[in-house]
Amino acid sequence: MIPLRFSSLNRPETIDELEHSHFDVLVIGGGITGSGIALDASSRGLKVALIERKDFASGTSSRSGKLIHGGLKYLQKFDFPVVKETGRERDIVYNNARHLVYPIDMTFPIITKESYNLATLKAGLSLYDRLAGVKKDERHTLYSKRKTLKREPLFNPKTVKGSGVYVEYCTDDSRLTLEAAKTAAEKCVSVLNYAEMTEILKDGGNRVKGVVARDHVNGRTFTVRATNVVNAAGPWVDDVRKKDRPITGRYMVHAKGIHIVFDYQSLPVATSIYFQHNGRMIAVIPKGDKTYVGSTETIYKENMDDIHVSQSEVEYLLGCLDDMFPPLDLSINEITSSWAGVRPLIGTDDDKPSELSRHDEIFESDSGLITIAGGKLTGYRKMAERVMQFIEKRHNQKPTASNTVHVKLTGGNFNSKNDLSSLIDQLHEHYSYLRLTRNAVKEYVLRYGTNTEILLKKIANYDEHFDDDEQRNIAAEVRYTVEHEMTATIADFYDRRTSYLLFNLDKVKRTINTATDEMKNALGWDQETLKKQITDMQYLIEKALTFTKD
Ligand SMILES: Cc1cc2nc3c(=O)[nH]c(=O)nc-3n(C[C@H](O)[C@H](O)[C@H](O)COP(=O)(O)OP(=O)(O)OC[C@H]3O[C@@H](n4cnc5c(N)ncnc54)[C@H](O)[C@@H]3O)c2cc1C
Repeated sequence: MIPLRFSSLNRPETIDELEHSHFDVLVIGGGITGSGIALDASSRGLKVALIERKDFASGTSSRSGKLIHGGLKYLQKFDFPVVKETGRERDIVYNNARHLVYPIDMTFPIITKESYNLATLKAGLSLYDRLAGVKKDERHTLYSKRKTLKREPLFNPKTVKGSGVYVEYCTDDSRLTLEAAKTAAEKCVSVLNYAEMTEILKDGGNRVKGVVARDHVNGRTFTVRATNVVNAAGPWVDDVRKKDRPITGRYMVHAKGIHIVFDYQSLPVATSIYFQHNGRMIAVIPKGDKTYVGSTETIYKENMDDIHVSQSEVEYLLGCLDDMFPPLDLSINEITSSWAGVRPLIGTDDDKPSELSRHDEIFESDSGLITIAGGKLTGYRKMAERVMQFIEKRHNQKPTASNTVHVKLTGGNFNSKNDLSSLIDQLHEHYSYLRLTRNAVKEYVLRYGTNTEILLKKIANYDEHFDDDEQRNIAAEVRYTVEHEMTATIADFYDRRTSYLLFNLDKVKRTINTATDEMKNALGWDQETLKKQITDMQYLIEKALTFTKD
């Protein structure tokens, strides 16, 4: 059997490849930025490697608001070229990963004492429709106060004066990142998670020529050599830069943001809502049988490896919700999960979070380490193109456009919304003997896209070994993600492959024993590893519902 390239069972072969090849480009960091660069570089026919210290998307790329923004935010800053580019990029991301990116109606209420009125909102949204190239059927609509309250009866009638509704796009940030890394692996990139860059290697002329990496699964150290080394370590880019040389000039400022999750019945909004509260924007997004809310924004200087949601941040969001939806009177006890992350922004300590640039920037150290920082999920393809053009210029070549405009991410081979629903119907019918509801099949297709059938075949193989269908499905899903998605820990599975930790904590609790057993068998864990894995996962379950005191 040909070994699968993006599999936890193939780690020794990947390490061998990393150690014994010379790469054109080595990327440090498997968030959306690094995964996008690896994909772009490989699409240009280059020999590429990507190493990630923990799991793909374990940094900021699984802790975002999960929106593929069209650039409305940039309009507020009169950044017209960026609005244009972001609108175009949103379409491309949507076309290339239709199973993971979907349009949602977003209501923008006009609120007393906040900065918009119906006239300014109309002007803004009309300009946005034009600049961002919004499709005809997705252009905005304005509603009077009466109609707004009819559409969204939970709004505060004392402060809401009307609304605009426009189309925004939502995604699963972890999976978007993972599928970008997996697509890169399918294009022959040597990709490895749990491989940390610990040292920068230099030649006699003090030029960067590779890195030393540590494999956290078996504790081995190995070297990776490359002509161009790109630091895409998100909020950790300065840690990587410091390994090269002392930092001068601009550096990373970490702006923390949190999200909290409720059952949909507790916060039953009719559409997604993006509202202003004392000048700050808060999003309320329904997702299946949950609704999530975020975010906050505060400068963060604490432990970057274990970021907690604090009680005061939760209280702040609850206060915003109270003002917006007074009938609900939501309490902290109704929260079903939460997450926190830090935005990698570029600036100085004196900048306020709102003043820090959200743009990406590329810089090169005197020894040749290329760093990219900042940015957004939506712009990942363009960021990758800019890095590759930077590399081309560095080698006195003419900068060329990216080849990834039409590269579908793995699982995303759909041409229309109809293709998605036909696949769901087809699989639901074909595998009816597995007793899966159409909704269950839909959930899989919106997670794994055209790869879903590989999972369903696995579920079929497991059918006779389990009395309970939910346990059978989890065991098969764990095995699928180990073999095909480089899942190496229980947290990889529950947090980033499936997001059950964020949106279905009860399911995590019901299935954790089966998932752990399956991983133990798949990866040959000894008792000590098993114990550590269970402890780590239990910590994450508790953390999702425990809010620290400041
Ligand atoms: C609260 C919040 C809400 C947001 N909402 C949105 C949104 O709705 N839409 C949007 O477009 N953007 C949003 N963003 C921004 C977006 O999430 C980030 O811009 C993006 O995820 C950054 O990706 P990255 O790859 O640069 O960083 P990361 O995802 O953090 O990736 C960097 C990776 O580098 C790895 N790494 C670090 N050091 C090493 C090393 N030595 N060796 C190997 N690997 C290493 C880390 O483990 C990490 O996985 C939000 C951000 C936050 C915090």
